[in-house]
Amino acid sequence: MTAASGSRQGTALPRVAGQAAEEDLRVLFGQSIAVFASLAGPVHLVEAANPAFFAAIGEDRARTGVPLAELMPELADQGFIALLDQVHRTGEPYTGRDVRIVLGAGPHAREAFFDFTYEPRRDEAGEVVGITVIGVETTQVKHAQLLMAEHRALLEQIARQAPLSEVLDGMARCIEDLAPQEVLVSVLLADAEGRHLLHGAAPSLPAFYNEAIDGIATGEGVGSCGTAAHRGEPVVVTDIGTDPFWDDFRELADRAGLAACWSTPILARDGSLLGTFAMYHRVPRAPQESDLALARVFAGTAALAIERHHDELARRDAETRAEAARADLAEAVRAEQKLRADAEHRAVAAAELAERMRAAATEQAAVPHPEHCQLGGADGCAAPAELKVADAWGDAAWGCHDHAEEALLNVRSAFIASEELGGLAAYVNRRPAPRTG
Ligand SMILES: [Zn+2]
Repeated sequence: MTAASGSRQGTALPRVAGQAAEEDLRVLFGQSIAVFASLAGPVHLVEAANPAFFAAIGEDRARTGVPLAELMPELADQGFIALLDQVHRTGEPYTGRDVRIVLGAGPHAREAFFDFTYEPRRDEAGEVVGITVIGVETTQVKHAQLLMAEHRALLEQIARQAPLSEVLDGMARCIEDLAPQEVLVSVLLADAEGRHLLHGAAPSLPAFYNEAIDGIATGEGVGSCGTAAHRGEPVVVTDIGTDPFWDDFRELADRAGLAACWSTPILARDGSLLGTFAMYHRVPRAPQESDLALARVFAGTAALAIERHHDELARRDAETRAEAARADLAEAVRAEQKLRADAEHRAVAAAELAERMRAAATEQAAVPHPEHCQLGGADGCAAPAELKVADAWGDAAWGCHDHAEEALLNVRSAFIASEELGGLAAYVNRRPAPRTG
């Protein structure tokens, strides 16, 4: 036995998956103990029966010296007394396999399955004097087989990446359908910090209950689930009506008709909290070892489903971020190429402008002009005037090379003035020029 599977107390250790799960499965399939009863006479008087027999039919009916039909009135309608009569009459034994029987009546009735034999007992003369009943209850095996088939289907669903809510919902319904007693399943999901529990799946709990529970904090004394999440170990509340963990939720649970709640934390492989798996009951109940095994098996299944879901979300997130990074990079490259092209353009344009300015300055050098630059603004400029610039509105000024360049680059429609250019005036009211071929 491993340390992980051996201790259920105060451990947040991840379970050693294979071994612990196998043990849980063994518990789920149960150990079958033979039931035995010795019946006498044509009324099938119960002479003797072993403890397993009384455990199977209910301890409150552990009596001998009464006819079987009186001890278990439910048998007659199901044909079992008629079968006994037949064996008693014919002396032929009868064997049944996996026979369904409803034990008890009313709210305490339970469905069970048995392999059994009715064996006639004879006296020294060979006359049938009674019947020996030997049986093995197969209910647990039958339920466990059905449960494991569902479990396998869930694992397949997880493997093909079905949506998490679908997997958890299916899991809750399968446990509810197969449990021998009425049980309501709830799965809560821990937030990233493990501080709160969010609605996961609870197909049979009333909506008002799910809404009230959605977002509860994890912590000591916060119902069964908040406490189980906080402790990292199962919390069994057998009676919500009296348990202090439920002080804040008692009224709510009462309104939802809930009387017991066993909660098992859902832990990741690294031991971190993924959520809780809870089984609610309509009446106060303490779990059997097989109930706890069932909870562990399905908490493990839920862990698998949730971890796969997280992995998938992380993968999609990484993909989105990689996509965004690729788009950013492409954009940066485009912008850089544009900047470089602009800079090259500007350099070419600046060289051309400088060339034109030099040529104009040479041309204008002979023209009378002010001695100093007129474009220095309020501070003035002491540099020699080299170039005449003008704008489209008719203003003109002489500037040094730098100021002239600044004006040409920054003032809209500034141009290098040429003494030959007379502006628009020359074109206003002019006579049409004779066409020359
Ligand atoms: Zn200047």
